[in-house]
Amino acid sequence: MQTHIKPMLKFAPILLAVIYGLAMYRFSVWRTSRELDQLSSELADPKLQPIMNALAKALDLPRVRVNIYEIEPVNGLAAPDGRIFITRGFYKKFLDGEVSGEELASVIAHELGHVALGHSRRRMIDFSGQNALRTALAMVIGRFVPGVGPWIANTLTSLLAARLSRSDEYEADAYAAALLTKAGVGVAPQISLFRKLDALTQSQAGRAPAWLLSHPKTDDRIAALEKLEARWT
Ligand SMILES: [Zn+2]
Repeated sequence: MQTHIKPMLKFAPILLAVIYGLAMYRFSVWRTSRELDQLSSELADPKLQPIMNALAKALDLPRVRVNIYEIEPVNGLAAPDGRIFITRGFYKKFLDGEVSGEELASVIAHELGHVALGHSRRRMIDFSGQNALRTALAMVIGRFVPGVGPWIANTLTSLLAARLSRSDEYEADAYAAALLTKAGVGVAPQISLFRKLDALTQSQAGRAPAWLLSHPKTDDRIAALEKLEARWT
């Protein structure tokens, strides 16, 4: 008996980390969707209707539903339940003429890609997996370099997480490129929007790190799109 319990106890912290990670993820999903429910309404703009219809037709859907999330930072997001949101701040840029309807649609197409490719489900696995990995690494590294073990484990896990979310971004970009091409829009609005968002990030220097960590470099994303475009035309 004892010989079985001992190795089990050894792995208990890792198992607990998995359970904790899953619970935390569930909680954040619940909190996010509650906030989205309270702070959102359906986007209904006649000026955007033609491009939205083109996206729906390319997807063989009667329509694509998009919601406005009432916050200022320019962003688009796909909720774990599959709903698509663009922020009020982003929509304002469209109303002010700083962003075109096609550019706005390119973000909607990118978020549709995250939903279609099952990224939020994978993010749940990543999230709890990362937590377990962090605990396991901290245990192992801590044995060799006491004190800084958790710090090293955190850094390694964050680097891995950034890499995983970066590959999601490239996949969603490619999905959007294919959808926009099928809808007769092409990839040009995706590229021009990236340039605009990059300029926006740079003009707000100092607040960029979180965005830069979770997103690949704009130039690399543009290069990947141009490669796809060249293959298709
Ligand atoms: Zn994305």
